[in-house]
Amino acid sequence: MSAARRSAPAAAPATRPIRRVLIANRGEIAVRIARACRELGIESIAVYSDADVGAPHVRAADHSVHIGPAPAAQSYLRGDHLIEVAKAHGADAIHPGYGFLSEREWFARAVREAGLIWIGPPAEAIAAMGSKTAARTLAIAAGTPVVPGTTEALRDATQAAELAAQFGYPVLLKAAAGGGGKGMRVVRAPGEIASALESAKREAQNAFGDDAVYIEKYIEGPRHVEIQVLADAHGTCVAVGERECSIQRRHQKMIEEAPSVAVSPELRKRMGDAAVAAAKAAGYVNAGTCEFLLDAHGDFYFLEMNTRIQVEHPVTELVTGLDLVQWQLRIAAGEKLPFAEAPEPRGWAIECRITSEDPAHGFLPSTGRITALHLPSGPGIRWDGGIEVGTTVGLSYDPMLAKLIVHAPTREAAIARMRRALQELVIEGVETSCEFHLRMMDDPEYRRSAVDIQWLEAKLPALLGAAPPEETIRAAAVGAVLLAERDREGRVRQVANGGARTSLGVAGSDAPSELRGWARLARDESLRRR
Ligand code: ADP
Repeated sequence: MSAARRSAPAAAPATRPIRRVLIANRGEIAVRIARACRELGIESIAVYSDADVGAPHVRAADHSVHIGPAPAAQSYLRGDHLIEVAKAHGADAIHPGYGFLSEREWFARAVREAGLIWIGPPAEAIAAMGSKTAARTLAIAAGTPVVPGTTEALRDATQAAELAAQFGYPVLLKAAAGGGGKGMRVVRAPGEIASALESAKREAQNAFGDDAVYIEKYIEGPRHVEIQVLADAHGTCVAVGERECSIQRRHQKMIEEAPSVAVSPELRKRMGDAAVAAAKAAGYVNAGTCEFLLDAHGDFYFLEMNTRIQVEHPVTELVTGLDLVQWQLRIAAGEKLPFAEAPEPRGWAIECRITSEDPAHGFLPSTGRITALHLPSGPGIRWDGGIEVGTTVGLSYDPMLAKLIVHAPTREAAIARMRRALQELVIEGVETSCEFHLRMMDDPEYRRSAVDIQWLEAKLPALLGAAPPEETIRAAAVGAVLLAERDREGRVRQVANGGARTSLGVAGSDAPSELRGWARLARDESLRRR
């Protein structure tokens, strides 16, 4: 029945209270949003696929609705269906989280046209920042520095060679519609440019259905530093500090920090102003992030704007005391930001992405059922997770299971805290990235933050091939001894599991054989007791 559909409101977000939010996502970010809603006295509706029946995010919300089979295309990506579900269940707003439909202009528009509040930027701002070339054009107009390069698609290899000579090698060919590092080629010499252009175009066409490729100067050894922005619908736009995200593998972030060792208060101000200028030029409202490359001379270049909440938002929350997800909801409801400048960062925060990937085997995705889970706790620890004992980890969705985040007065203390937290953490049933993170916390270069975006790839073989840190071996030994003494069940299981995991996992073959024997015993014992 075509009952009176409300016509689309104007571009500005509605100034009406939000009472019930449909969370169009899953996993840790859906749990995170449900928590923010509850603290604000807002009801939440979780949605779930066949693969997520009984998942933690479903119980975190006040209501839940089944939306289809496991494949995302038949569940979490069915925008029109999600809007119908929202309306049928009395939601007045939709929060998209990150990934899935969060940066789809059509979905933001459809939500608005359905008379619902979109908890994110206006569809027009998503579109303005949607293509890399459009975003570059906009940033240039706003006076925000961009990597030297073009804002239009390359015509052919001859033009590419002319431009490359002008900017100087190495150069980077990039898909205008790009994302996830696809359609990118580094070109170091004139002889390589024709074939690189051809393959970048082919990859872009396959991945995005658009073969537009443009050219940029390739910056050697920069850091990835991004600025979090909050903008309300009343004209206030504030930069709330930077995040350091240089620890990347295949252009995917693995560890994030706030603040960045490379950013002085003066540079923070300049980067913040540049981010705010770009956001304002796009008519931005809500939370967003401007990504920059920062070179060794302190020069920075705008890369792109992410028009959603980001995975790594908690590190900013911990050093600023702001609840960014609550601010997303409050801004969407029309509230004014009560500050024109963000607080200076307090202390240091680090986030490790805990994924179901096996670092010992090239980060291959690992699947299975979580059979044991012991979460770290104590001072300065935050766990944003979407798993529990019994959760089945499959291949339908992103392998990120949770984020372990710590806060401490200094960077050194934060690293020690993260190390301690990772040692307490026990996840059994699937392989995880924990061992990788533990080794990172012990790495002298990481500890000095002598890193850039290319550092991790070069470092990985040495990092994962190395013998386990002394303390890890000791933890395994303690576990084995405790087990041998038949200590009280809980303590034994916890320590023995941790020890067994670390010594039999990545480090297995390097650990002294006697220790490996003990650790294996500990694992068998813990399995028997389960
Ligand atoms: P995507 O949207 O595919 O992730 P980005 O433009 O964000 O593409 O770039 C992904 C990553 O590639 C960046 O985080 C950075 O590590 C690297 N990168 C991008 N542009 C350059 C450049 N001009 N010089 C050097 N590295 C770059």
